[in-house]
Amino acid sequence: MREFDFEAPASEKWGEGLVSVDAGVPLDLEVRLESVHEGILVSGSASTEYSGVCGRCLTDITEPLQVEFQELFAYPGEEATDFEVQDDHVDLETLVRDAIVLSLPFQPVCQPDCPGLDPATGERLTGSTGPEQGESLDPRWAALKDYTTDHDEEAPRLRVENTEES
Ligand SMILES: [Zn+2]
Repeated sequence: MREFDFEAPASEKWGEGLVSVDAGVPLDLEVRLESVHEGILVSGSASTEYSGVCGRCLTDITEPLQVEFQELFAYPGEEATDFEVQDDHVDLETLVRDAIVLSLPFQPVCQPDCPGLDPATGERLTGSTGPEQGESLDPRWAALKDYTTDHDEEAPRLRVENTEES
């Protein structure tokens, strides 16, 4: 059994979504190679960081990422496999890339309770979501809101006038 700690850059941009690991971003790798009957069992972890934008407010984000991986690299035989020992080497790139791409968040957020963008103004909301969302009003309802307010204010006055007349 052999263990290796080393650093290597991402060979290309990994990830197609809102966030990705960019080409050249360093990966800290801890790899353990175990000789088994069928081949070489590779297990380890990779630490790196992904960057992109928050899925709600589009702020740029960079977050740490750590993934674990394990795969049996078979000695070349009659059956072709995805992972094979070639010339006494194991190529970890596909293994590490797949582990990282699969663990990238599909809906990344800058913070767990990111309030996102104001649906009316497109401005980035800050703080709690309650009051801001309550105040945002569809423009088509704005006239009705004014009408209702005026009506409520005038109603008592009308009643007072009626009382004086009677
Ligand atoms: Zn956000």
